[in-house]
Amino acid sequence: MNAKRLSVFGSGKDKSVTNHRIALVGIGKIAVDQHVPAISGIDGLELAATVSRNAALEGIESFADLDKMLAARPDIDIVSLAIPPVPRFGYAAAAIKAGRNVMLEKPPGASLAECLTLQRMAEDAGVTLYATWHSRHAHAVGAAKRWLEGRRIRDVSVVWKEDVRRWHPGQDWIWQAGGLGVFDPGINALSILTEILPDRVHLNGAELEFPENRDTPIAAQLRFHHSDGAKVTAEFDWRQEGPQTWDITVTTDDGTMKLSQGGAVLHIDEVLTEQGEDREYASLYNKMVQLVESDASEMDLDPMIHVSDAFTLGKRITVAPFDW
Ligand code: NAP
Repeated sequence: MNAKRLSVFGSGKDKSVTNHRIALVGIGKIAVDQHVPAISGIDGLELAATVSRNAALEGIESFADLDKMLAARPDIDIVSLAIPPVPRFGYAAAAIKAGRNVMLEKPPGASLAECLTLQRMAEDAGVTLYATWHSRHAHAVGAAKRWLEGRRIRDVSVVWKEDVRRWHPGQDWIWQAGGLGVFDPGINALSILTEILPDRVHLNGAELEFPENRDTPIAAQLRFHHSDGAKVTAEFDWRQEGPQTWDITVTTDDGTMKLSQGGAVLHIDEVLTEQGEDREYASLYNKMVQLVESDASEMDLDPMIHVSDAFTLGKRITVAPFDW
């Protein structure tokens, strides 16, 4: 294979015991930025192989084809998929059929139906399936959830505005059908929202702004029904230059909390209450190990249901073309 070879991040972990061998599929941005360092920092986990059409990691066996890896490496018990949502179903189905435990990047698939099919396949095969939502593992999300418990919510405002050219340079798949457009980051906000809110919400209106030359939206405004009558809105925009905004503000009868920087920082009534280092992917892999070792699976589809509803209920607005 004529693969681009990237050097692997070093680590001081204890390599004498290997409890789980992982194959990482898709050696792109998130694999290199987050998955590789997270795996190499956890005792008992070994990154044993990669599957990628174009890249490889120095010192790790590489395959261009998933089926060849599955046949050659029966010792690998976890297959972690860090590829875009549209091709993910076929890869996940093949790994499950081969009896491997499967970890899915967010969103867990390109459609709700294929996620449900994977769930049934994993149950039938007796393997673990873990649909990860990395933003739920951001530092301050747990504290926000605990603070909201038992409080009466009046207003929820989600503002997720970033520069697509800065965070997704050259990623054409995000603009193709199934790539989700601005919902690719927006679903992270929805994964936090559905984790921290004590009450259920469902979408009841939306506007989606599609560049005239693209299949997916560049901006979206969402409105939700809340079981206790609170006003709940979300604004997603990929055209924000300068400072970037990933905030969720919740006003209650008993104070206001603001989660910012994608869930890393929490202010209660404008007082800094929590902030800490990013351990999202280490937390995801630790959770995967727990699930595998207890023969359990986890697939929460709530964030994806809201996105799917936005595409179903949303009014479509055509806006200026987008070019890189
Ligand atoms: P990416 O860099 O564009 O692509 C990741 C990998 O996917 C590449 O190695 C590429 O393959 C492979 N790939 C692309 N199209 C494929 C296809 N049709 N069939 C098989 N493999 C294909 O994307 P990414 O940013 O890492 O995102 C991957 C997933 O992680 C997405 O679901 C995204 O939402 C999620 N995620 C991304 C970020 C982020 O900051 N980028 C953060 C959290 C989660 P080859 O190597 O084989 O060419």
